[in-house]
Parts: sequence; C-alpha cells; structure tokens
Amino acid sequence: MSKVHNWHLNRDMEYPYEGSRPSRQIAYIFDTNKCIACQTCTVACKTTWTSGKGQEHVFYNNVETKPYGFFPQAWDVSVQRLLGPNKWKKDTYEGKTVFEAAPPGERVLGYLPDEEDYASPNLGEDVIAGSVEKGAFFQGMHQTWMFYLARICNHCTYPGCLAACPRKAIYKRPEDGIVLVDQSRCRGYRECVKACPYKKIFYNMITRVSEKCIGCFPLIEQGEQPQCVKTCIGKIRLQGFLSKPGEERADNPLDYLIRIRKIALPLYPQYGTEPNVYYIPPLHVPISFSQQMFGPGVEAAMTTYRGVPNDPDLLSALLLFGNTPRILHRFRRDGQEAVGYDDKDQEVVRVPFTEPFFARDFFDKKNDVYRHNIT
Ligand code: SF4
Ligand code: SF4
Repeated sequence: MSKVHNWHLNRDMEYPYEGSRPSRQIAYIFDTNKCIACQTCTVACKTTWTSGKGQEHVFYNNVETKPYGFFPQAWDVSVQRLLGPNKWKKDTYEGKTVFEAAPPGERVLGYLPDEEDYASPNLGEDVIAGSVEKGAFFQGMHQTWMFYLARICNHCTYPGCLAACPRKAIYKRPEDGIVLVDQSRCRGYRECVKACPYKKIFYNMITRVSEKCIGCFPLIEQGEQPQCVKTCIGKIRLQGFLSKPGEERADNPLDYLIRIRKIALPLYPQYGTEPNVYYIPPLHVPISFSQQMFGPGVEAAMTTYRGVPNDPDLLSALLLFGNTPRILHRFRRDGQEAVGYDDKDQEVVRVPFTEPFFARDFFDKKNDVYRHNIT
C-alpha cells in the first residue's frame, strides 16, 4: 500500500498504487435540484454504447429515486453496511475507506451483486420517504421527500475497480483521468465489479469481460461534452476538467463551483476513491441523509445555493449548464450575461440572466383566430 492524498477526506490514505493524479481530471457537476427523472440521459447513453447482446442489464448512466431507488439493488446500503458508521471530525474523515478496510489478502472491501440485483432498475422509482395519511391535505412545507440521483462512473482519482484488477486491465488516462478497461487484457474475474463501491462497472456474460462508462472519450477528444450531458432535458449537468488541487483557477467553471465555492460535493466521499462526479445537494432532504451521502460540506453548499439570486458570478457559472455542447475551459460574467469559452478561447456560449419575454395577442386579427399559447 502507498500513501496518497485524498482531498475529499482532507487527509492521506492508503491505496494499492502510487498516486498519479492526471494533469487535468474529467469532472462533472449534477444539480440534484433540477433533475426530473425523465431518463433521457439513460436512453441517450444506452442507445449510444450498450444496446448489444449481453448488455441488457448494463446502464453506464442510470437515474434512481432516493431513498428507495437503487441500481443495482441496495448498492449503497450494502457498502455502508460493510464499511460501518462514518466518522467525520469537521472536514476530516476519521473512518476507514474501502481500501483501508480491505480484508486480509484483498485490496478493496466490496461485494459482488447477485444477478437479480440488476433485474429491476426502476424499483423504488418515485417512492417517497415517510407516509401520507388518509385525509392529509397540503399544509405548506412537504413532510415527505425524495430526490432523483443521476449516476455514471465517477472516473475516480483512486479507482476501486483499477486497484482490484489482478490483470492490470484497467487504466486511467494521464491526459484527462478517464478510467477505461483494456478488454483484450480482461479475463472476466469480476474483481472490479466487486470492488467498485458505486457498482458502475459491469460484467458482460456474452463477451465474458467487464465494461464501463468510457466518458464518451471520442467526443471529449473533439472538445464536446458527453451524450448524457448534452441530452439532459433538465440542464442539470456540466462536464469539464478539474485542475490539480492547489492549481485551481477561478475562471474554470468546474474549479470555481467545486473547489472555490464548494457548492458541488462528491458522492459518498468516505469510500475513498475520490470520485469526480460532484452533486449540488437537494435542498428539501433531511440534512443527516444528505450528509451521509455527500459529506460534511452539505450545509454550507445549501446556504451558498440559496444565495444564488444575489450572487451574479455564481449565477453565471450555473447558467452554463445545458446551454452548449462544447466543453468550457473558461467563463466570465459580462454584465447580465454568462459567457463561456472553449479550449481555443473562442466564445461558444452567451446566456442572458433573464430570458427575453415575448407575448402575442390572444386574438389574432389577421388570421381571425384565438391563441391559447400567447407567451
Ligand atoms: S466509479 Fe467505479 S468503475 Fe468508475 S472509476 Fe470509480 S471505482 Fe472504477
Ligand atoms: S436527462 Fe437530465 S433531467 Fe432527465 S433524468 Fe437525466 S439527468 Fe435528470
């Protein structure tokens, strides 16, 4: 085991390999407050990458309803149970990660889901926490809650899948941190499936090798955001690159939102893989549930998010979500507009703070008709 630094845990931790943080790391931000569970992302990904034989159960992207939705069944509950209670002292994680808690002779603490755990991806969808009694009526703030959690491979800085592979078939690209499986080396031992705490690597029973989200790297190499990001109906997603810790730039939208404003947080940071999909936590969920899921930064992130209407720079960064297919390397606020630039520093998106409003007459004299959609 080597000592590597995990900034999510605010401490060094043990990892089977030496740290080799890429010069820039692919990263995503998902705003949980905006997801409507339309599953457009899921379908876009499925039709692009996993519509073949043996891939029926494979969802590189899925959207599950928390607290009762899971894919595969009970994945996070199972890992939490293995890992035990989470111990944080302010921003520092004092419990064990999946690497530090590995049983003797193994590199990662994990479990292999059963086949039937993959059988019902939508089980628990739209199921609320709490119950609505007969005769209940609306009384203001909802007492019941749920939220949608969109999930893809986190292209972790310290991947559990990579650590566990006895064939060294999984690698992390130094140019952008995308985690890939070399299927010519894979022998289908499924150690990766067991080790990934997010269960985002899948075994294909037809090809008899493992496969996972490839970060749409052919698009990334052309400066385009991945399919799941570009097609998102709710505009909840932004993909870009995160700089190395200590090298963050305030004009990089990912650095700004994740490291500087700390509005977007990693999913289950306590697992220790330093995942690179960051979530703006839901505002209406019990804080203890959110903290277990997104770590100790939840309250501060929610306060920052609630302040967006009075924070034009933050609003600028958030307005970039879903408004361009291009990867943004720089952004700035220009008065009441958010402006984004690509890798050649060309302006590729400009979003006004307030959308222009047009209203047509209810009665159209020229065509002698009434309109029902006047705005
Ligand atoms: S989320 Fe899982 S499959 Fe993806 S890099 Fe991390 S450990 Fe590997
Ligand atoms: S496309 Fe966007 S809004 Fe629809 S389910 Fe996926 S993440 Fe949520």
